[in-house]
Amino acid sequence: MKADRFILSLQIVMMIVAGLSCGRQNRSSAVPEDPGIHKIDSLEKAGYEIIDLHAHLKGGLTMEQLLDHSRITGIGYGVAVNCGFGFPIQNDSSLSAYYHSVRDFSVYHAMQAEGREWTEMFSPDSIELFDYVFTDAMTYFDAEGRRTRLWIKEEVFIEEADSFMDYYVAQIVEILNYEPIDIYVNPTFLPEQIAGRYDELWTPDRMQKVILALQENEIALEINSRYKIPSAGFIKKAKEAGVRFTMGTNNGDNELGYLEYGLQMIEDCDLTPNDFWKPDGKLLQ
Ligand SMILES: [Zn+2]
Repeated sequence: MKADRFILSLQIVMMIVAGLSCGRQNRSSAVPEDPGIHKIDSLEKAGYEIIDLHAHLKGGLTMEQLLDHSRITGIGYGVAVNCGFGFPIQNDSSLSAYYHSVRDFSVYHAMQAEGREWTEMFSPDSIELFDYVFTDAMTYFDAEGRRTRLWIKEEVFIEEADSFMDYYVAQIVEILNYEPIDIYVNPTFLPEQIAGRYDELWTPDRMQKVILALQENEIALEINSRYKIPSAGFIKKAKEAGVRFTMGTNNGDNELGYLEYGLQMIEDCDLTPNDFWKPDGKLLQ
């Protein structure tokens, strides 16, 4: 009787195990039905590490929801906090408090440095807490000394597009040369007034200046899925110069998406896994 009962229990255990593995198979075979996830899955099989290094906890998005999205899509995440003049994090103590509140989550931790004042606002020790630091060139003082944020139409004064571009390119190059960052994000962004003239205004000479500064300072170039920048032409030139890339969403709300533009650029610009940069260290499991 005991032996029978043992065999019966064994059979039940085997049925449960079979059921579980069957459930797992169903889940994984269901994954490729979503084209976005299918693309990520095949790229990962081909040796790419698909990481979104520019995600924000915005629009009520919690770290738990972000990690759920990561499990479903297979995308790894770097979560950035905005630091600088006019942002919630403006000093070492709030920067350190933020870091300690999120450090145990299995994401990379990033500092998004805002404006040009940030280098004076935070000490190297608190910056060091983070896996990487990035900035964009969307905030600067224009030739008249006005603090300009390129995404706010009322703050952008363009008398003549070419001189605007030359001044902007010089700002980008100065940021890349002097600020201690790992990635240049929202790169080549143009304000609404001239955004439609992107290909004309980003001349080969202007592209080259930015690419040279990236190369000399070993700063990675973000391929940004929100603004769909830089252009494929810019990315191809940067690749030729040996610049490395990251992918980022810069979500303004709680939608993280699937890094669509970045994945498209991998195809369009023949980017290989070695063309990508990532922070040192591993994601916690
Ligand atoms: Zn951002």
